[in-house]
This record gives sequence, C-alpha cells and structure tokens, in this order.
Amino acid sequence: MFLEGKSAIITGSTSGIGLAIAKALSAAGARVMINGFGDRSAIESALVQVGGAIYSDADMADSDAIESMVERCAVELGGPDILVNNAGIQHVAPVDAFPPEKWDAIVAVNLSSVFHTTRAAVPAMRQKGWGRIVNTASAHSLVASPNKSAYVAAKHGVAGFTKSVALELAQSGVTANCISPGYVWTTLVENQIPDTMAARNLTREQVMNDVLLAAQPTKKFVTVGQVASLALYLCRDEASAITGANLSIDGGWTAQ
Ligand code: NAD
Repeated sequence: MFLEGKSAIITGSTSGIGLAIAKALSAAGARVMINGFGDRSAIESALVQVGGAIYSDADMADSDAIESMVERCAVELGGPDILVNNAGIQHVAPVDAFPPEKWDAIVAVNLSSVFHTTRAAVPAMRQKGWGRIVNTASAHSLVASPNKSAYVAAKHGVAGFTKSVALELAQSGVTANCISPGYVWTTLVENQIPDTMAARNLTREQVMNDVLLAAQPTKKFVTVGQVASLALYLCRDEASAITGANLSIDGGWTAQ
C-alpha cells in the first residue's frame, strides 16, 4: 500500500474518471476526499465504492468553496498530499451560437478551479517536500474539434498552467502533470451525443463512429480504469522525474 499515510483530493469524483481515480488511490492506501455533484444515492454509492472516503460538495465554479474544501481536507485528512483536478463540464455549439454563460461555466470549472485548488494545496506540499498534482486535461489540450471552443480553450489552458506550476515546484519534491485522455466512455461523453447530433445533423450511431471514434485510431473508447492506472503511477516515487508532462492516453488520436 504505497500511498499509506498520504491524503488525496479528487475533484469531480462522484462519477466517471474521477471516481475511478479515487478508487485506485484509496486501494493503494490513501485517505481520500471525493467531490462532485449528484443525488444522495449517487454520492452514497461513490462513498461506498471508495471506502473510508469523506465527501465535499464544493462547487468548482466557486473559489471560496474550493478554499474551504482544501482547508477541510487539511483538518480532517492532513495534506492534501495528492491533488487530482478532474472536475469538468462540456457544451457543444458553434462559436457564434455559444451561450456566454456556458463559456464562463466551462472556463470556471475546467480551468480556473485548477488554479484555485493548486494555490490552496501547494504550501503544505512544499512544506512536506512531497506532493503530486495530477490534472485531467484531454486530447483537446493538444488538438481541437469544431463546436467545442470553450472546452478546447480551457483544456489548452490547463496544459499550460500545469507546465508553469511544474517549473515553479521543480526542486520541491512536488510534481505537476496532465493526463490527456481521448474519448473515455463516461456520462460526459454520453451527454454530448444529443447536442452533436443536433449540431451536425447526424444519427446517434454516426456520432459514435464517425465523430467520436473517428479521431481514435484504435476505434475503442479508453476505459476509466486505464486513466486511473496512469494517475496512480504518477503518484509513485518512481514517477518523481515526470513533471510538466502532458501524457496522452488517447488510442493514438494525437499521433495523427
Ligand atoms: P463525468 O461527467 O462522469 O464526471 C465529471 C465530474 O465532475 C462529476 O463528478 C461531476 O459531478 C463533477 N462536476 C461537474 N461540475 C462540477 C462542479 N461545478 N463542481 C464540482 N464537481 C463538478 O465525466 P468524465 O468523463 O469522468 O470527466 C472527468 C474529466 O475528464 C473532465 O475534466 C473531462 O473534461 C475529462 N475528460 C473526459 C474525457 C471523456 O472522454 N470522458 C476525455 C478527456 C478528458
């Protein structure tokens, strides 16, 4: 149990990739704080799956709530020694029809929250001389797709932010990296199918095969377990030389 004695916050971990990462870190011995939205039964189910975790309902669009979440982690679990910035939302529309409030929400949750959690968590990591910051970016931190201007801008921002933080922390024992998945089969992907059908006038099957998996040479969705394994690896001492990296796990998408 190599993470025994360490604590971790995983934002956006009531479902999907975040929940898989929370389970993996907990199984490796970390004390875990999960976070995200969902009805009571979804949150209780996540808490049961992670085992021994505590839950924060902090809204990643609210900087005060983020600060309180990190403070509560310090009081109840110590640390955080590991910060996984994973919360994310999506909206699909052409730029001239993109609702400004959707732009603001995507930039707040997908990008600005990463700054707010990081600035709150870094002092304790520096003091301990050990820390891991793992940001779930996306293949869209490296390449673009149409109708996803806010998401692509925010994810490119996460990649740049991560590099800058990695350089600042390079001699402190704290690493900062991005994981950039291609299409992973989660509710986030499932929920954008209707909008993409409408935006491009396609059937569900056409969106799945010709839009989503069109970009992925393996023609397979990435699994949440595969992403969680990479996040877990980055927390190992063997990964201490990996910092400022943007690690693709995308079935070859960005190799094209
Ligand atoms: P998901 O919808 O299953 O999970 C998103 C999580 O974020 C949920 O726990 C949700 O409650 C939480 N969340 C949303 N808004 C929040 C807010 N304001 N405050 C706190 N929590 C909030 O989706 P997922 O696919 O598991 O996505 C996780 C991350 O992975 C996101 O950053 C996403 O951009 C990224 N990603 C996903 C894919 C994919 O194909 N699924 C690909 C690349 C990157």
